[in-house]
Amino acid sequence: MASVRSRRCVVIGAGVLGASVADRLASAGLQVTLLEQDQPGRATSRWSFAWLNSNDKAPRPYHDLNHAGILAWAELAPDFDGAAWYRPVGHLELATTDAGRTELEARARRLTDWGYPARLVSQAEASELEPALRFPESGTTVAWFPGEGYVLTEPLIARLVARAASNGADVRTGDPGRVIGLDPGPAETLRVRTAADPVLEADEVVGCAGRWVPELAEMAGSPCPVPLVDWEKPGAAAPGLVVRAGPLASAGPVRLVHTSEVSLRPHAGGLLHLEAPDAAVDLHTPEPDLRRWAATLLRRAQQTVRGLIDARVEEFQVCVRPMPADGQSIVGRLPGAPSLYIAVTHSGVTLAAHLSRLIATELTTGTPPADLAPYRPDRFLTNPSPPASLPPSR
Ligand SMILES: Cc1cc2nc3c(=O)[nH]c(=O)nc-3n(C[C@H](O)[C@H](O)[C@H](O)COP(=O)(O)OP(=O)(O)OC[C@H]3O[C@@H](n4cnc5c(N)ncnc54)[C@H](O)[C@@H]3O)c2cc1C
Repeated sequence: MASVRSRRCVVIGAGVLGASVADRLASAGLQVTLLEQDQPGRATSRWSFAWLNSNDKAPRPYHDLNHAGILAWAELAPDFDGAAWYRPVGHLELATTDAGRTELEARARRLTDWGYPARLVSQAEASELEPALRFPESGTTVAWFPGEGYVLTEPLIARLVARAASNGADVRTGDPGRVIGLDPGPAETLRVRTAADPVLEADEVVGCAGRWVPELAEMAGSPCPVPLVDWEKPGAAAPGLVVRAGPLASAGPVRLVHTSEVSLRPHAGGLLHLEAPDAAVDLHTPEPDLRRWAATLLRRAQQTVRGLIDARVEEFQVCVRPMPADGQSIVGRLPGAPSLYIAVTHSGVTLAAHLSRLIATELTTGTPPADLAPYRPDRFLTNPSPPASLPPSR
């Protein structure tokens, strides 16, 4: 492998994953060009619930990967202006049905056995932890996950991109950042064509284009499928509705809260971020239906927490989860196009700080980290349509 400093590395996509990878590679001394067709952080990462969790991830290695992701943000935050974006506030989950209570108790036990901070708490303790909570009825079981939290992705990504640039990364956005072709160059290099600029020669291309990663694989001519959960057809599971409502009174919630009806957390600008597992929307849902769902989510939130008396829906958006078909991350070199290294995953916010560290280790040392072994793209050469193993809401 050529010396690190002489390696030309193009990172495609400046969501939370690409921005994290560009930051790690630039600080390791590689010559990094970060290409983003829009502005950094405006695609899926902008609308993400951004809950840092490994709350219901399986199998065990994937749980551990996500747990390492939570810890990696905690490591990064203190020296990286964490006050602007890092919110390690913990998470309360309420279950009110028999089936819900049984599942939550079993999950809390399993996570405790796995060394993950989780415990059941009384309603009194839950009220102390989150005074804004309203309890729907007696018989509610509450679990507390103190190691979880969330990030504000916009200020985070802005900081990652700025630090990459200050370490020498060339950041190109808009047409100069829009990749339209990946062609083989000499000696296993790739020629990256953009919509505006001359061709870029790269020793490594890291494709972090979220749900558009399969397009990059096609551009590079790889025979390896990169199967993501369908996001285009009506009824597809990958799109989700995000609602932001406000103003949030000072007596409003400070933690992440989940019930079977609504997921919520505070957001920047005095808003509340809301989602619901049963919001049946896709990219074709008519606007009046989206408005109705948004109003439903706000009503559910008002029943769940205090501090929303004057709140109204400020914005809503259907956004798409980049979900690998088997629910597990896809990270590594592509068979048939080895200069293209891809990284696409659900839970990308939880995972980005740790995954980017593993990717940077692999690209700078040439040694594949053992933690990435289960996630290599070549698993799809033999099994191109694996069954899903994760619910989209986690
Ligand atoms: C509703 C919802 C809730 C979620 N909740 C959570 C959660 O609570 N916790 C969690 O960890 N994860 C959550 N996720 C998942 C998480 O948000 C994503 O995994 C993560 O944001 C993906 O980041 P990314 O950088 O890979 O992709 P993106 O943020 O989509 O970034 C990809 C970038 O690539 C650019 N790009 C694409 N094609 C090209 C091209 N040809 N040339 C140049 N640039 C290109 C795009 O413009 C985009 O900016 C949620 C997702 C959704 C939709």
